Order: sequence, then C-alpha cells, then structure tokens
Amino acid sequence: MTEKEWAAVRELSGDRCCCGRKKAKDQTFCRGCYFTLSAELQRALYRRIGHGYIEAYDASKAALREAGRLAPIAEQMPLEGS
Ligand SMILES: [Zn+2]
Repeated sequence: MTEKEWAAVRELSGDRCCCGRKKAKDQTFCRGCYFTLSAELQRALYRRIGHGYIEAYDASKAALREAGRLAPIAEQMPLEGS
C-alpha cells in the first residue's frame, strides 16, 4: 500500500474526524460530515482501499472544505505573532 493508503487506514481506525469532532471507529467521517456529502460520495466511501476509496476520500475532503466544515489549509497554520 502507498503511504497515503496507510494514512487513510490510520484515520479510519481513529476516533477523530478531520473536522475535529468525534467519529465512530471504522468510519471515515463523523455523522455531520458524512451527511454533508452527496449520496454519490457517501456510497463511494464504501469502496475498499485500492478500489477507489482514496479517490472518494479525496473528493469528500474537497467537498467538506467547500462546505466550510474543514478549515482551509492556510488557516490551520498558526498565525504569525499570535
Ligand atoms: Zn466531521
């Protein structure tokens, strides 16, 4: 598996969603994030790693960022002088 796939596996087994809320183990996102996604993406997240999961994961994260659930990458950096 690629490093990216391992990172996805670790994220699945954790209990923290990328938005910072608690999530169930073996689920990619918390319920709030999951139900923000389109039905198509929700279905795609049931694909297995190596069979489209990573692509679905990337598309889902982009959609969540678009929906304002995830901070844009620049805003996750500590601000200068704060
Ligand atoms: Zn979430």
